[in-house]
Amino acid sequence: MTAITTTTVTPSPTPSTITFSNLALAEPILRALQEKDYTEPSPIQAQSIPHLLQGRDLIGIAQTGTGKTAAFALPILQRLAASSTPLTPKRPRALILAPTRELAAQIAQSFGAYGKFLKLSHLAVFGGVSLSPQIRALSRGVDILIATPGRLMDLERQKHVSLDKVEIFVLDEADRMLDLGFVHEIKRIITKLPPRRQSLLFSATMPPAIKELATSLVHNPVRVEVTPDSPTVERIEQQICFVERHDKNKLLVHFIKQKPEGLVLVFVRMKHMANKLVDQLHKDGILAEAIHGNKSQGARQRALENFRAGRRRILVATDIAARGIDVKGITLVVNFDLPEEPESYVHRIGRTARAGLDGQAIAFCDRSERNLLRNIERLIRRPIPVLKGHPCESASSHAPEQNAERPFAAGNRPNRSSQRPGGFRSSSFGGNRTGGGSSRFGGAGERKARPAFTKAGFSRF
Ligand code: AMP
Repeated sequence: MTAITTTTVTPSPTPSTITFSNLALAEPILRALQEKDYTEPSPIQAQSIPHLLQGRDLIGIAQTGTGKTAAFALPILQRLAASSTPLTPKRPRALILAPTRELAAQIAQSFGAYGKFLKLSHLAVFGGVSLSPQIRALSRGVDILIATPGRLMDLERQKHVSLDKVEIFVLDEADRMLDLGFVHEIKRIITKLPPRRQSLLFSATMPPAIKELATSLVHNPVRVEVTPDSPTVERIEQQICFVERHDKNKLLVHFIKQKPEGLVLVFVRMKHMANKLVDQLHKDGILAEAIHGNKSQGARQRALENFRAGRRRILVATDIAARGIDVKGITLVVNFDLPEEPESYVHRIGRTARAGLDGQAIAFCDRSERNLLRNIERLIRRPIPVLKGHPCESASSHAPEQNAERPFAAGNRPNRSSQRPGGFRSSSFGGNRTGGGSSRFGGAGERKARPAFTKAGFSRF
C-alpha cells in the first residue's frame, strides 16, 4: 500500500477569470454546457478538470451543490471520446459508484446532458427496479456505468458485467457510502478493477475510515478541497419557529400559502409521518407527494419527477430519500421535524439555493426538540434567527432565547463581529423581516443575480 501524497490545488488564476474553454474542453462538450447555461466553471471544476484531463488521480472534498458532478463527468466524457475504443458488451470503460438510487439517476442525467453531442453511452443501474432491462443494456455495451454498490455486485456476481476494462473509476459521496454500510461492497468492487486506471474519490468529509479507503484506491492524487464551513448554505435565509407539536400542520399550511410560487420541500423524521402529512395537506386542498424508503423505486422516481416538473409543488421527504436530491427551483425547505443528526439539517437546507439561486429554510421546533436545535446551532456555530409573530405562536411555545438551552442565541452570543468579518450584524437577528429577522450565512445581506464563485463553490452567487 502506498502512502498518499497530495497536492492541494489553489485556483490560479482566480476562478472568475477561468472559462470552460480555458479548461481545454472539446467543442461538443462546450456546446452542451452552453445549452445548460453554464457560463463559468465552479471552483471545484476549475481546480479538478485540468488535472483529470491529464489522467491524475484525485481526492475531492466537496458536497453536492458545488458542481462536483460536472467536475468529474466532463473530463470522463472528454477522455473517453478522445480514444475510439469500440463498445464491448458487459465491459464499461468508466464506472461511477453512488450511494443512493436517486443520486445515481441524477448523475446519469448529468452525463446525458453534458455528453449530448458525443457518441458515448451511459447507463445507471440500481436496486429496487427490474434487473432484466439493465442486463440487456449491459450486454449491448455501455461506455459509462453509474451504479449503486449492491446492484453492481449482484450484476457482477451473475457475470452480467465485468469491471476489468474500467479506465476511470469514481467513488462519489464516499462518507455517505460508509454511513450506509457499503464498505465491504466497495472494497470488493475495488479488487475487481484493473490496476491501471484513473481513480477519483469524492467525499464531503475525510474521517479516518475514508482516508484508509483512499489509500487503497488512489495513487499520488491531486487533492482538491472545497470546504467552506457551511458549503451550500450561505445564500439560504434561515428561520426557526417555536411551535406546539399539534400546531405544526397549521403552520405548514400557512407558509405554503404564503409562498404561492416555487417548490417546497418538507422534511419529516418518520416515513409514516410523511404519508400522514400528505393526507392532511390534501384535506387542506394542497396537492403534495411523499418520498421515503418504504416506497418502491418507481414510486419514488415518479414522485421526484412530478416535483421536478412542478406537477406537485410540495414534496414531503425523509432524509434518506432526499439525500442528494438536486431539483432546481426549490425556494423553501421546511424542517417540519428537526433532524436527530445535526448534520442532516445542513444537508436538508442545502436542497434550496441550488446553483446560485436564493432560498429560504424554515424549521419548526416544538418543546421536545429544543436539544436538537441546540445541537444544530452548535454545529453551524451560530443561532438560527427566531421568526416571531407567526400564527401559531403561543406563550408556552416561546423561544428559550437567552438561556443555557441555546448557547448561540442572540443574548448569549459573544461579540461576534470580532469573530467573523462582515458576518452577523445584530440587525440580522432582531430585524424587520416578518417580525423575526433572518440569517444568510456569510452575512452582509448580499443578493447577487450572477455567480461570484468563492472557495465555497456556488454558495455565494
Ligand atoms: P452538483 O454539486 O454536481 O450536484 O451540482 C449542483 C448544481 O449546480 C446542479 O444543478 C448543476 O446542474 C449545477 N451546475 C454545475 N456546474 C455548474 C456551472 N458551472 N454553472 C452553473 N451551474 C452549474
